[in-house]
Amino acid sequence: MCIEGRGPLQIAKALRENHVLTPTAYKNRKGIKSPSTENADPYRWNANTVVHILERLEYTGCTVNFKTYTNSIWDKKQRDNPEENWAVFENAHSEIIKPDVFKKVQEIRKQRHRRTRTGKSSMFSGLVYCYDCGAKMRYCTTKDFEKRQDHFVCGNYKSNTGSCTIHFIRAVVLEQLVLNNLQVVISYVTAHENYFRQVMTEKMSLKSSEIIKSAKRKLTQKEKRLAELDRLFIKIYEDNVAAKLSDERFAMMSEQYEDEQAMLKSEIVSLQAEIAEQERQAENLELFIKRARKYEGLKELTPYALRELVKAIYVEKPDKSSGKKKQKIRIQYDLVNFIPINELLQQKKQRETA
Ligand SMILES: [Zn+2]
Repeated sequence: MCIEGRGPLQIAKALRENHVLTPTAYKNRKGIKSPSTENADPYRWNANTVVHILERLEYTGCTVNFKTYTNSIWDKKQRDNPEENWAVFENAHSEIIKPDVFKKVQEIRKQRHRRTRTGKSSMFSGLVYCYDCGAKMRYCTTKDFEKRQDHFVCGNYKSNTGSCTIHFIRAVVLEQLVLNNLQVVISYVTAHENYFRQVMTEKMSLKSSEIIKSAKRKLTQKEKRLAELDRLFIKIYEDNVAAKLSDERFAMMSEQYEDEQAMLKSEIVSLQAEIAEQERQAENLELFIKRARKYEGLKELTPYALRELVKAIYVEKPDKSSGKKKQKIRIQYDLVNFIPINELLQQKKQRETA
């Protein structure tokens, strides 16, 4: 429901209408102890409860430790620990939410947008950006607008004083353009999966699994050497204490070890980051191909499909050089960013005529 664009309040309402028990009511019926007291209406969901559920990492199958801490044995108040101090153990139990769905929900929660005063909202809100200045585009609607009048304008545009031009685009036009783009990409990916994978692998500068394997080997070697240095350091320290090694020599050697240690540590960090990035990107590419397959034959744009496939949409300034207003958009796809679809189609044509 969140990915479909519903907020916590609307989700709470839907749960109540569908007679879904609140967590406290559920626990009471199952004989599980609960710290809260049950509401008179067992279906009366609170928006905050929904928010907690949406943000609960454990549902993806991890165990999370150290989410709270206490200052000392004297001050037992539980305090929230910042996320970077959490200890997360993946695959600790079975998942009830797919990790990529969870991630998407967090993204949406972060870009929470204000609802317009009219209560109307657009599935594109928060996803549309001005191509020229990068600002988020504003969704404009009024109570009396018909759907075809709703539009977006650059957030930096004001009729006289703004720093950018209007970049006006109607929501229905945007929807049509996005749908067309998605249809072209989906049909290309599903028809030429291998070639698409090959091109994107190159574009995302993904390393082959061989290269990743060799990076991992290097990492193990460096970690081994680091442990060895620790042992060597203890050894020269003991030798120095036992007067088997002069102070001067000890100082020189320990300095050398420390230099090597510092270098190794920084090499290890960058190797680890490189490996993680490569593995994640390769996974992302496969996930994107899977999603494109899922939406094969897409006829109508739903908020869910939009969120699963699109990360952002950039609207260019309208081009009036031909006398007719033409407007281009660029789509940043979820997981893989930009897809050089025009070049891909061109190449396809060339191959076909060759
Ligand atoms: Zn702009």
